[in-house]
Amino acid sequence: MVSHLFYYQLAVLVLAWLFVMLHVTGSKPGLPAPPISAQPKRPRSTAPKLFTGLTQRPPCALCERETVHPNPSAPVPPDPMPPTNRRPRTVDTSRHFCPHSDCDYRGWLGLNNLRANGHPNGAPWRQFQCLSCLGYFPEHHGTIFHGKQAAVELIVRVLACLAEGLGIRATARVFEVAPHTVLQWLVEAAEQLRAFSAYFLCDLHLEQLQLDELYAVLRDRKAGEISDEEALKRLERSPYWVWTAMDPQSKLLVVVEVGSRTLAMAQRVGHQVTEVLAPSCVPLCLTDGLKDYATALLPHFGQWMQPERRQERGPTPKPRWIPLPELLYAQVVKSYRRRRIVGVTHRVVFGTRLAIEQVLAACSWTINTAFIERLNLDIRQCVAAVGRRVNTLCQGETGLRDQLALFHVYHNFVLPHASLRQRLPLPEATSGSGSAKVWRPCTPAMAAGLTNHVWSLKEVLCYRVPPWPQPQVR
Ligand SMILES: [Zn+2]
Repeated sequence: MVSHLFYYQLAVLVLAWLFVMLHVTGSKPGLPAPPISAQPKRPRSTAPKLFTGLTQRPPCALCERETVHPNPSAPVPPDPMPPTNRRPRTVDTSRHFCPHSDCDYRGWLGLNNLRANGHPNGAPWRQFQCLSCLGYFPEHHGTIFHGKQAAVELIVRVLACLAEGLGIRATARVFEVAPHTVLQWLVEAAEQLRAFSAYFLCDLHLEQLQLDELYAVLRDRKAGEISDEEALKRLERSPYWVWTAMDPQSKLLVVVEVGSRTLAMAQRVGHQVTEVLAPSCVPLCLTDGLKDYATALLPHFGQWMQPERRQERGPTPKPRWIPLPELLYAQVVKSYRRRRIVGVTHRVVFGTRLAIEQVLAACSWTINTAFIERLNLDIRQCVAAVGRRVNTLCQGETGLRDQLALFHVYHNFVLPHASLRQRLPLPEATSGSGSAKVWRPCTPAMAAGLTNHVWSLKEVLCYRVPPWPQPQVR
């Protein structure tokens, strides 16, 4: 057994060492540490720090994929066919193209290569012949109606019901068709409608853009039972968030995407926005307080800048990736308390507050995200999967995507928007004893200059989308 004396000696040694160490370092026990600098501490500035740029371009997965696998460019269109001496054609073939893969005229509109052949065997659809490959095709080739026994009107009405927000099972009951048939039609229509949106939404010149994300209630949780904030906590990792980007002036829904609430998804939306915009177009962006938007916008609306040397000697400073000088971006940050908004602040991220307010003042607006929030309300009402309790058929992400593809076209091309209506130069008399028509209905696509009329859903579904952009159409 070790004696107590050993421990006492050890304690004395430790104390002696401690005093020596304190003497060497110069501090005194029991006294407060001297101040590090004599200058009074400056209060931290609340003004936002000037963004000085990044030494690397922020990554974007889709941009990188495009540099590795560039999109195949459209082939060169052949020369239009010379006019013949036959009598002039009466059937309009301007919206049709030859679908045959071995034909030079495949996928090109308005090259004078099509001849209408009437209705073979009294069928409802007209037949066309391509004079280049001599192949035949029906006028509904490539649409949802091709190869369907069901009546066209039935398919259109079923899809119109889905677009107006009726669930799949309810629609199936109304029209007395099997729910799986309704789902099948939705899946097929969605594929066609995605191509339709991609074909028409390109080279857009937008002054403003509002971006937002809303949660999709997919299980049996009803909308309104939980607030966005609560849902945000619960669903942070849930893949079901609907991301939207819209032009507040024309109400055009530019991008609608489904995914998680992550940076990768924000970058995906940012990339898609730049793909539909014209190359030189840099709109004023307004979003909620999600920080990922700034990181998502930066790779697409940025440029390299060589900073000036501060000293004569030493290495030249590294080039920095900075936002384009014309990029204006502000956030509307809402603070919540017990599901109620208690405060709204505006945070200018890129550009100056004055420049942003000048752009908005042209429409007599202030910094807001009200238009996209209004659109989100429409989505909640029209897309059954987002708004309310859904049936089991449409619970997954693909079902939600298909319904949103339908909503995307329906909102942009079919539904006239009340605030966009245009006054007619002269009132038009209506049939019967009704008052004269004063207003011309206008859809977001008309306001954005993509089309000149209100489309019917049947017209949209009958539209044969060419496989590549056409030079003469737009
Ligand atoms: Zn052909």
